[in-house]
Amino acid sequence: MLPVAPAPAQDKTATFALVGNPNCGKSTLFNALTGMRQKVGNYPGVTVEKKVGELFSLHGRPMQIIDLPGAYSLSPRSPDEAITRDVLLGRISDTSRPDKIICVVDASNLERNLFLVTQVLDLGVPTVLALNMMDLAHDKGISLNPEELSRELGIPVVACQAHKKIGITELRQAMSRTDLPVPVRRWRIPELLEDAVEELCQALAGENRSEPKQEFARALILLAGENASSHSAFGSESQKLAQRFRLQLEAQGIDWHEAVVAARYQYAQGVCEQAVRSGGNAGEDHSDRLDAVLTHPIWGWAVFLGLMAFMFFSIFTLATYPMDWVEGGFTRLANAVKQAMPPGDLRDLMTDGVVAGVGGVLVFLPQILILFFFIGLLEDTGYMARAAFIMDRVMSRVGLHGKSFIPLLSSYACAIPGIMAARTIENPKDRLVTILVAPLMSCSARLPVYTLMIATLLPAKTVPALQKAGIMMALYVVGTATAFFFAWLFKRTIMHGETPVLIMELPPYRLPSMASVVMQMINRSKLFVKRAGTVILGLSIILWFLAAYPKAEGGQASSQLAHSFAGKLGHAIEPIIKPLGFDWKIGIGLIGSFAAREVFVSTMSVVYNVEEASDVTLPLRDAMLREKWADGTPVFTPLACVTLMVFYVLALQCISTVAVVKRETNSWHWPLFQLAYMTGTAYVACLIVYQTGKVMGFQ
Ligand code: GDP
Repeated sequence: MLPVAPAPAQDKTATFALVGNPNCGKSTLFNALTGMRQKVGNYPGVTVEKKVGELFSLHGRPMQIIDLPGAYSLSPRSPDEAITRDVLLGRISDTSRPDKIICVVDASNLERNLFLVTQVLDLGVPTVLALNMMDLAHDKGISLNPEELSRELGIPVVACQAHKKIGITELRQAMSRTDLPVPVRRWRIPELLEDAVEELCQALAGENRSEPKQEFARALILLAGENASSHSAFGSESQKLAQRFRLQLEAQGIDWHEAVVAARYQYAQGVCEQAVRSGGNAGEDHSDRLDAVLTHPIWGWAVFLGLMAFMFFSIFTLATYPMDWVEGGFTRLANAVKQAMPPGDLRDLMTDGVVAGVGGVLVFLPQILILFFFIGLLEDTGYMARAAFIMDRVMSRVGLHGKSFIPLLSSYACAIPGIMAARTIENPKDRLVTILVAPLMSCSARLPVYTLMIATLLPAKTVPALQKAGIMMALYVVGTATAFFFAWLFKRTIMHGETPVLIMELPPYRLPSMASVVMQMINRSKLFVKRAGTVILGLSIILWFLAAYPKAEGGQASSQLAHSFAGKLGHAIEPIIKPLGFDWKIGIGLIGSFAAREVFVSTMSVVYNVEEASDVTLPLRDAMLREKWADGTPVFTPLACVTLMVFYVLALQCISTVAVVKRETNSWHWPLFQLAYMTGTAYVACLIVYQTGKVMGFQ
């Protein structure tokens, strides 16, 4: 069979979809093709990133590329894969169906990558195959023949090495062709399915005459039914028909899904036999030797813990310098505003509300950048897959999947990217459990609160830094242990179900590309900065307003607070929090930080009338230590400090997390449940700690 009918010539801008397995070098290729001409947004209704780039054909015509999420298959097992499928089928409302496809494969792993290729070719859309990672294939002793591969698949094949920009011009050349062939299906559907698929194709053709070429692909997707998230894309008649076929096939004891997978692989194998010559396996030896150490039951752990310790150490030490610069910058900015504006409410709003609020949060950006840099580095070298493999042994004890490790690890920086990373977990129950416990991992927003409370708890200057760091680590351990406890509990109760065995490919080790690590770090940190500019900014302004109004007569600062809206709120909740050892001023801090934890520190600064000096913590700490109850006993006893820290470890105080969980689970049910269980646990735990502590004679 030879390719038939060239695609219709285009007058409009041709849109290419970029498709490929995760880690095949798709993003690198996208960057090499489009350079800086990229736009990043979201697909409607989901948080999957949509990347669109522009380039010109060799004839100077503009072309567009949509970089689709990495996918192993078009029968989606994760929301990312579902997006890839839906864009290719033209089901996403703001994204028109791509006219052409660039399918990227990892040449060093061709046979497995060809599985997705067979599905893409089923779509009947003109496709170019980018045979990437030719260097790795060569290192492994595999020799590939692109011409032969092109003949076998019936589409143009371009050999590339995206990270070195080799083959990019040839790829553009292939993309510029107006006579790209429409692929013809060459794998054979298992006989026992032929009739069912044929009938489904006809039913679909009756429903939608505008896309006759995709019926075959759509029929198979419809038959796979269970996983399709957008059933509505099919008419009810064809859905019923598919259901009937499914039941029939099941009744005959036919695992048709497996049969289709096997048929595709059989074809892929045949193609490889023609186009691939494999001699020796030099590359594998190297990876295998490393794996023997890195996944070893003892050495693997030693390396893993060493790396984690090094990462945290860097976060806590290296970051202090840039953090000082950021803090200094914001202090100078506040002072400049103070000098430039006449005294009054507007000036206070700018300095105490806007600059203090946003600056107090952005100060943590260096820590976040370092964390994301490490995560990117570990991912890019291929180590992350080994870490997940090692962690799987521990996580499976509490019923979690090794794949939950990466979302939970990211949650140390911020629960939001962590919760979004949970999309890679295919099992819906495991994904939900991971989302539910992720905010218990101590995120960076808690750092300012921990730092302040540790300084209040151990005010003496002689206390060694190591001891303070020890308390800090203990807080992280409590959070992590609680997360594991709840994961265990949920898996035994509301999310009861088997945890599938971790089947995970261990990708080959690679030298990381700094450019891509840095790019990932920047992309991931954007969210944090955006939050400072939106949620935190808004909250700081509201809080400043609540503390500044209504104005007390006489303008006395201390009576002003009691008189203000914030003061009244604090007094209103005092009866509830008094059993935890907290007074109404702490109450204001708790209310303020309900939407974002880091607001606690700036709220406390306002509450205790401390000027925003260059070093916020010290004077605030002193003011807090002077604070007394009505009977003259101090408010911030060591016991109260510890209780407050426990509260911040456990409570869900983050409006952005609630919003993201709502979006990711597509319901209000789970974020509200999460809010209730975490805050409830925090309250009860604090009650126990404080009351037991008092009975035992602690102060
Ligand atoms: P994606 O998950 O498919 O988007 O993969 P990336 O574009 O992030 O690439 C994964 C890693 O492979 C990065 O470290 C790239 O620098 C690297 N990479 C991309 N193309 C090649 C290639 O042709 N050869 C080699 N050796 N590495 C590559």
